[in-house]
Amino acid sequence: MEKTIVAISTANGNGGIGIIRLSGKNTFDIIKKIFKPKNSSEEIKGYSMKYGNIINPKNNEIIDEVLVSYFIAPKSYTTENMCEINSHGGMIVEKKILEICLENGAELAQPGEFTKRAFLNGRIDLSQAEGIIDLINAKSDMEAKESLGQLKGFLSSQIKEIEQKLLDIMVDIEVTIDYPEYDVDEVTNNKANESLQTILNLLEKLEKSFDRGKILKDGIKTVILGKPNAGKSSLLNALLKEDRAIVSDIAGTTRDTIEEYINLDGIALKLIDTAGIRDTENTIEKIGVEKSKKLAESADLIIAIIDNSQNLDDDDRRILEIIKDKKAVIVLNKVDIKYKNEENERDIQKLCKPIVKMSAKNETGLDNLYTEIIRLFEINDISNGNEVLITNERHKKQIKKAKENIEKAIETVKSQMPVDIVTIYITQALEDLGEITGQNVSENIINEIFSKFCLGK
Ligand code: GDP
Repeated sequence: MEKTIVAISTANGNGGIGIIRLSGKNTFDIIKKIFKPKNSSEEIKGYSMKYGNIINPKNNEIIDEVLVSYFIAPKSYTTENMCEINSHGGMIVEKKILEICLENGAELAQPGEFTKRAFLNGRIDLSQAEGIIDLINAKSDMEAKESLGQLKGFLSSQIKEIEQKLLDIMVDIEVTIDYPEYDVDEVTNNKANESLQTILNLLEKLEKSFDRGKILKDGIKTVILGKPNAGKSSLLNALLKEDRAIVSDIAGTTRDTIEEYINLDGIALKLIDTAGIRDTENTIEKIGVEKSKKLAESADLIIAIIDNSQNLDDDDRRILEIIKDKKAVIVLNKVDIKYKNEENERDIQKLCKPIVKMSAKNETGLDNLYTEIIRLFEINDISNGNEVLITNERHKKQIKKAKENIEKAIETVKSQMPVDIVTIYITQALEDLGEITGQNVSENIINEIFSKFCLGK
């Protein structure tokens, strides 16, 4: 990392200010050549700013009036010497300053290279770096909050805790191997078994949190299913009329790709195939049970709507069959029409799904629907931010691998195999976890992760 890198860190386009960032050993030398402070004291202080002009040293032409902030190693984003030039916004000025930096000894940074340096220099670990990408790309408050947690190292410290527990077991086992005369195999085994079980539980909890983390990131994919005339489009319209609804029309497309979201306490309910619902010809016979099943499969949540003013018929039963093993809320619609059918209710209750009575037409009962969904997805817990959530596919994969190795370790302990075999699996699990924080991770993975960053970060 001998190179001193430079990049424009603010977004493309015209803005109030632009920031050109430098990092590396020669940062201050380069700045000295191209920056003439108004108050030309030589002293450089960390976390300070100087006001002056950027000039082209070749002909002393003034390029812009700027503020330069100084960060002295190791107290900077990358842990190297850094400067940030605050110029006027606008691509021409920013590009010109960039060129002058390049002409005077800096090299153009790769996307994510500043953060990569922070990682390679040990200031942050890999999962924290990934938290930074997620924070930049966050689409909702909740997601931003979670990314910030990851950036602060909440996930890392949980992983480190698990690693420490694994190391403790290893030490116990080593002692047994080194001093066989004590013959404490059984004691070690019992103890190892207990600790491994605790670790397995922790890993399982983390793995499970991915589903909730995913919801936070992508929203709850929701499908409304119901036979013709059950009230699907009335429900959809009622939902979308609320303050909570956000309709995002993806540029230049037909109705099919309109994405409709409802905000449930910071989590997005993403309604899918809404165009299909609005098409009045779209009945379950017509779209077919297969298509409904497919939609249901891809959904995180199904709202099954039943016309409660009639007896359950085959169509209704087919829908109830589809939702049997899915996260679903059953809406008994049209309760404004007086009709009481005990048999209906009994059949529906058998499914043990939350049931909401409403009138889509009169828009009553919507709040109960929201309450049930919030309960079903434990959204309040997510919103509390009390729990470490996995939001990254890569992390989930590593946790799963580690979990499987711990399961094998537990089996080995239980089957009274020589205790040193257990260490093979524990070592493997440690390696799996190490890939999350980046202790042992291949260069390819590192490069892939940082290539997702934007330039100048
Ligand atoms: P879809 O075919 O499932 O989309 O059903 P629609 O939303 O088009 O509704 C079918 C018919 O039922 C329409 O005439 C609606 O006005 C009526 N409807 C829908 N919801 C209610 C309700 O809660 N109460 C009453 N009385 N009628 C409703």
